[in-house]
Amino acid sequence: MQKLKTCRLCKSKFRQFSSMVPVCLDCAPAYALEKAKKKRKAKQVEKKRATKLNDRAYLVKRAQFYCNKWVRLRDEGKSCVSCGTTDAKFHAGHYRPTSSSPEHRFNEYNLAAQCPQCNLFKSGNLTEYRKELINRIGLQHVEHLESKTPTQKLDCADLLEIIEYYKGKIKAKENPLDHKGKAG
Ligand SMILES: [Zn+2]
Ligand SMILES: [Zn+2]
Repeated sequence: MQKLKTCRLCKSKFRQFSSMVPVCLDCAPAYALEKAKKKRKAKQVEKKRATKLNDRAYLVKRAQFYCNKWVRLRDEGKSCVSCGTTDAKFHAGHYRPTSSSPEHRFNEYNLAAQCPQCNLFKSGNLTEYRKELINRIGLQHVEHLESKTPTQKLDCADLLEIIEYYKGKIKAKENPLDHKGKAG
């Protein structure tokens, strides 16, 4: 004999006819409505997601998020690029500001782990930043950052590529074994 089930909505016992419908006959219409509502919601979420993939300002933020995350990972164990402190929750600080050198916004040579003090309150502490950056990447790369390099404005596809690029680097660094396994 078929066992009685508990209706998901009213909690009464009922005989289930279809495994697709986990409610009693009384609750079936309400259940159908609820399901339709969920479906609509899922559609809305999907639509929103699709819109975001064409929202340049949003993608710039996401790309900067992953780029910064990568820089903090890369510089783990290093001290603040400007003042040398190790006692801080590090930011990723740009050497050339994004306002004047947007072409270097996602260039990892232009970023380093930096303490909040230098990053926020000393406008990047750039004189000291420059000295240490030369130590780390060499004068040639620093001078390249300082020269004006004309570039096209990044479009959404470019930004999505940057996001994937840094996501990949983060993943490889966080799971080196996993990465090795896949490569070999
Ligand atoms: Zn019910
Ligand atoms: Zn500092």
